[in-house]
Amino acid sequence: MSLRAVPRGPLGLRSSCTAPRSAPAFPRRNIAQSSRRSKPTNTTNKAQDKAASANGERKKPKDYLDKGSERDERPFHFQMWDSVTARVQRERERQDRMVTKMISNPRRRVGPLVLTILSGITGYYFGQLIPDDPPTTSTTKLEDTNPPPHDASRPTLEAAWVDFRDIVGQDNISMTRAELEAHSGSSWSSHPSNPEQIPFCVVKPASTEEVSAIMKVCHERRIPVTPYSGGTSLEGHFAPTRGGICIDFSRMDKILKLHADDLDVVVQPAVGWEHLNEVLAQQNLFFPPDPGPGAQIGGMVGTGCSGTNAYRYGTMKDWVLSLTVVLADGTIIKTRQRPRKSSAGYDLTRMFIGSEGTLGLITEATLKVTVKPQTTSVAVCAFKSVRDAANCVFKVVGAGVPIAAIEILDDVQMACINDAGTTSKRWEEAPTLFFKFAGTPSSVTEQVAQVQKLASKSGSQSFEFAKSEQEKEELWSARKEALWSVMAKSKEGEHVWTTDVAVPISRLADIIEETKENIKKSGLTGSIVGHVGDGNFHSVLLYNPSQKSIAERVVHRMVKRAIEMEGTATGEHGIGLVKRDYLPHELGEETVDAMRRLKLAFDPLCLLNCDKVVRVQMPGKRERVGEW
Ligand SMILES: Cc1cc2nc3c(=O)[nH]c(=O)nc-3n(C[C@H](O)[C@H](O)[C@H](O)COP(=O)(O)OP(=O)(O)OC[C@H]3O[C@@H](n4cnc5c(N)ncnc54)[C@H](O)[C@@H]3O)c2cc1C
Repeated sequence: MSLRAVPRGPLGLRSSCTAPRSAPAFPRRNIAQSSRRSKPTNTTNKAQDKAASANGERKKPKDYLDKGSERDERPFHFQMWDSVTARVQRERERQDRMVTKMISNPRRRVGPLVLTILSGITGYYFGQLIPDDPPTTSTTKLEDTNPPPHDASRPTLEAAWVDFRDIVGQDNISMTRAELEAHSGSSWSSHPSNPEQIPFCVVKPASTEEVSAIMKVCHERRIPVTPYSGGTSLEGHFAPTRGGICIDFSRMDKILKLHADDLDVVVQPAVGWEHLNEVLAQQNLFFPPDPGPGAQIGGMVGTGCSGTNAYRYGTMKDWVLSLTVVLADGTIIKTRQRPRKSSAGYDLTRMFIGSEGTLGLITEATLKVTVKPQTTSVAVCAFKSVRDAANCVFKVVGAGVPIAAIEILDDVQMACINDAGTTSKRWEEAPTLFFKFAGTPSSVTEQVAQVQKLASKSGSQSFEFAKSEQEKEELWSARKEALWSVMAKSKEGEHVWTTDVAVPISRLADIIEETKENIKKSGLTGSIVGHVGDGNFHSVLLYNPSQKSIAERVVHRMVKRAIEMEGTATGEHGIGLVKRDYLPHELGEETVDAMRRLKLAFDPLCLLNCDKVVRVQMPGKRERVGEW
């Protein structure tokens, strides 16, 4: 028999299991015996023969083996065969012993186990690097969100501090407790400050490039960021709910370029609207949006603010031509150039206005400006009831009188102004309308006459208009002092809650009347004040900590009423933290899901002012708005 004819066994050796037909078919046991070359006794051989025949095995060719064990005189190829099969058998036995050892010795199993786990972890890690298939839906439901993957741990923030120092210099990073608290909330915000929610540090960049570099660090390290301009917003807008850092724009306060001929101006985000108007006035120009004293362009874009001039001039959305924005990963974009109109592409400018710092950081804005009116004047008239005052507004707006502003202050608000004593005049403590007129001298005179007539038809009890610049300032100052005068009445430990809603103007009288009634029943001190020409009014409530739930109910009913009247949860202050759960009631779940998708498209890690405007994580039970 040739060796080539022996089939391959384990380890590449030729196997005896399927021995060639010409070779004797030896049972394994006997092969092993032969391989050990021990001489079997006669008794053993006999017993084996017996057992083999009992098992039906073929009888082995004894003569060959026996001879071989003494002096093997078999042909060479038989000896060769024996040798090979014996080697195979030994190999098998060695493997069997190995397996038995592995199973019985747990230590030996640790190696492969560790290897399996390690390869599993490695596989998982690399699997994570492979991006998921992009979602095929158009919206993101709240229940489909994952908690933002932030890292606001101290070691990460301390390491990032070194990066920030290299970008803005050590003097422009603040970590004093007072400054951290001032950048976390305010006494005029409806969201009381939470001592546990403060930023690690306040970073003050001086340019768009520095803001971009800071955002690159935060993106790389997954650090949440809260932008801050004037800090006058009212609904917990800049509360650093996720810790991280605050970017304060106060060093970016330059008016970069005034294009007087084109009626536009390029500014940095920390330019205040009051300062801007002082500069513009030198060129007989004017920028109309007038929110809270101290507000700055970055924050005004952030909230999409308006103010007393909105009735005539519109809101912030109407006065921004273009924005330079730093996105969450540090990318710098400019939304468009300077023309007054453009149909080029999506309107990203408007998308960022009112986004409350959740989509990008405004580092430059090109604003429209207009020519200052030749003359302005102010008139004030008191009414018996809020309904009479609201009806007067309805009539003036309906008559199309081009007045600049119509503001309402109720009897409680007028009493607060008297008590605060901040104006030299003592006011009638009754629902009062403040009118601002703007235009040529003759048109202003004409408007004043028209309004006086309409006010009288609505039951006004008094009507006085400013005859001098000083009187005008005096009359209008009462309106501007509204919030501070209510706050001045607060007792030790009391908070102020300023909130706003807007309704179609025909529903104004109903909602103001119902809200006033509600405040009266609640037992809280609360006033009504607002830009009623736009159907927008505010309620200013004082409450102590034990009355918080009462204040919440008053605000809840006011917002619910407004939405049920086809109005909005906020006319100008914005959503912030406080009004997020009203959005689905006002706009529908699907619309909010679309907003959430937009947020996650621009800021997938949810680094920018996380938790404002739309929720990006399921709330706890206690956080949700109560029964609708
Ligand atoms: C007495 C008083 C009266 C008010 N009257 C009115 C009023 O009549 N009309 C009105 O609309 N509002 C009014 N407000 C509210 C407030 O003045 C406005 O919301 C104003 O627009 C906020 O500007 P700010 O600079 O103070 O912004 P901040 O409070 O600093 O920020 C507002 C929001 O914008 C974000 N933000 C800040 N800077 C940037 C930036 N550079 N890029 C991106 N996001 C940024 C913040 O994170 C925050 O979410 C009043 C407030 C007070 C206290």
